Amino acid sequence: MDDLVDGFGRRFHYLRLSITEVCNFRCTYCLPDGFKKTAPLTFLTPAECERVVRAFAELGVSKIRLTGGEPSVRRDLPEIIARTAAVPGVSKVCITTNGWNLDRQIGGWRDAGLTNLNVSIDSLDRETFVRITGHDRLSSVVAGLDRALSLGLPNVKVNGVLIRDTVEAGFDAFTEFVRERPVAVRFIELMRTGDNAEYFADQHVPGTVLTDWLAARGWCRRPRAFDDGPAVEMVHPDYAGRIGLIAPYAAGFCDSCNRLRVTARGQLRLCLFGELGVGLKDLLEVDAPEALRVRILKALAGKPAGHRLHQGDSGDTRQLAQFGG
Ligand code: SAM
Ligand code: SF4
Repeated sequence: MDDLVDGFGRRFHYLRLSITEVCNFRCTYCLPDGFKKTAPLTFLTPAECERVVRAFAELGVSKIRLTGGEPSVRRDLPEIIARTAAVPGVSKVCITTNGWNLDRQIGGWRDAGLTNLNVSIDSLDRETFVRITGHDRLSSVVAGLDRALSLGLPNVKVNGVLIRDTVEAGFDAFTEFVRERPVAVRFIELMRTGDNAEYFADQHVPGTVLTDWLAARGWCRRPRAFDDGPAVEMVHPDYAGRIGLIAPYAAGFCDSCNRLRVTARGQLRLCLFGELGVGLKDLLEVDAPEALRVRILKALAGKPAGHRLHQGDSGDTRQLAQFGG
């Protein structure tokens, strides 16, 4: 089925489902003071997560990404993965994680049905990693990623936020990192949120800094797959892995938007940098699949053409931990 098309002809095969707002890291651009509880921690239950996934899968979504906050802080994560993987129509079950205890957990996630792993690593330099995340865990995170590769997980990627602090030296380290490892490292251009305006002014660099650096060293663009999302990836014959860029400030970025988001509190977000959301929680609590599909379809008709980040407007997004990025 292929019902999820918005008013601009964009099709949606991809849902990002946040399962918690809680995080154990203190990334400088996201939660520099750590997670602060401002409301009861009542997030979607595994059964409610499954109902969300079932509704979107019936409307044609085949790829689900579990995110947060930090999804691995939930003890019932393996159950959520298993319930997601069992929904008919779902072919990819992905997670975005900071890699906390990844080496101990990845086997269980794989057994539960995880297909795609994205690990966030902003720097391969131990001290810089500590400075950015607040934790001296770089070697453990990399060990977890290598464990995922050794288990044969089909799709392993690294996400790194592109910040002034790590350009050039960071590019060198990451290209070396993928010389033998068959992973894609994708830099995300730093996005301005409600909480990080000062940091953004100091640390934002345009994505072209990365793509120019790579092109000067013989890296070329590779063709995109249909559910790739708005990432550009570059390859080089001497390297097993790829280096990519997600550049939300680039012209046309929103034209290829293929993703929808549901927050850990059951709100459908049509744009990461929009306002409010459409509440689904009441229908998830009572299990009302037909009404849920109708509400989702109605909401999609109002998806905006694009974000207003260029005007310095981040909507009501204070930081990405709120909605999962
Ligand atoms: N905690 C998990 C993690 O860090 O992988 C999942 C949630 S995190 C919000 C999802 C992704 O958003 C991470 O890769 C993170 O680096 C990225 N991110 C967070 N804040 C960002 C910002 N202001 N600009 C660009 N990327 C950001
Ligand atoms: Fe936590 Fe991820 Fe935000 Fe870092 S980017 S503070 S790991 S939610």
